[in-house]
Amino acid sequence: MRSWIAGRCRPALVLLLASQATIAADVDTLAGRTERLLQTLQAGDLRLDGAPDELTLPAVNLRIRHCDSYPYHEDQPPQDGARQLLADLRAGMQTGLQCLGGNGPMGRLHPYHEYQAHRLLTLLESPQDKTFKCVEDAMFATAVATDPQGTSIEDPLYQQLRQVDYPAVIFDTYRLGGILSRRHDDQTYRTFFHLAEDQIVEHRSGQPLRPASLHRYRDRAGLVFHELTHWLGHRHSALYPDVATLYETCCFGGSDYISDPDTNAAHQQTACNILKDDALWSQSYRPYTQMRLWHHKGYDRFKLRLRADFDS
Ligand SMILES: [Zn+2]
Repeated sequence: MRSWIAGRCRPALVLLLASQATIAADVDTLAGRTERLLQTLQAGDLRLDGAPDELTLPAVNLRIRHCDSYPYHEDQPPQDGARQLLADLRAGMQTGLQCLGGNGPMGRLHPYHEYQAHRLLTLLESPQDKTFKCVEDAMFATAVATDPQGTSIEDPLYQQLRQVDYPAVIFDTYRLGGILSRRHDDQTYRTFFHLAEDQIVEHRSGQPLRPASLHRYRDRAGLVFHELTHWLGHRHSALYPDVATLYETCCFGGSDYISDPDTNAAHQQTACNILKDDALWSQSYRPYTQMRLWHHKGYDRFKLRLRADFDS
């Protein structure tokens, strides 16, 4: 009798343990962690939290400040901007994390990048406060992120960055929308933008101009993912791997500043090939060796070639 019970119970127990193991494995895999994060990034969970122009998403300790006119500084109902920014974050995380895990359209990358995806998830899951802030015509960059090492006073965007704590991203809705800055002097408007006197007056005091020559950023999901890559300590440089640019170019279909699809596809392929290079990424914890390889393999020319193909 005893052995009969034991015999009957064992398969059930084995089944139970097996299903628990499956759940545990699912939670720890990149796909499982990504899915859990995406479930928390819901616009319906945004809360008004005291400050009139601030919304919070408690599940990830995110504050979205002053973003009513995100992304392109156009008239829209209040809170639509924060909802749109959250949607861009969600789309960016979905595409970017899947790509770093080797499940994007360009296939498997070096495992170092899957590790970066886990690091980003750990930061987003942490109780640390994160900030998205929007500004209007306040900087020359479309967006900028804080660095875990802090902000140097030498940084040209120091005036903006000093107003937020790490981890934060600041978006400029004038730059995102391709709106001409109101901060130039009259001579600049005449010489570089060929504005007539009445246009200058209208631009300064009425509706700002949106010249066709200024870029409106389209792939905002790619931009948000690019900025969050900086939260991991990856900086722009020609001397060592420019991880943020490589991720945006490989995972989000090329550069936002290039409109020709074939040119973009070629740059995307190059970026992904670099991200697959075992010799380069296996040296990620030996920065000097990696820097030499980056130069030796000619990868330091990648960004120059990308920029050379930007729409004029
Ligand atoms: Zn960047």
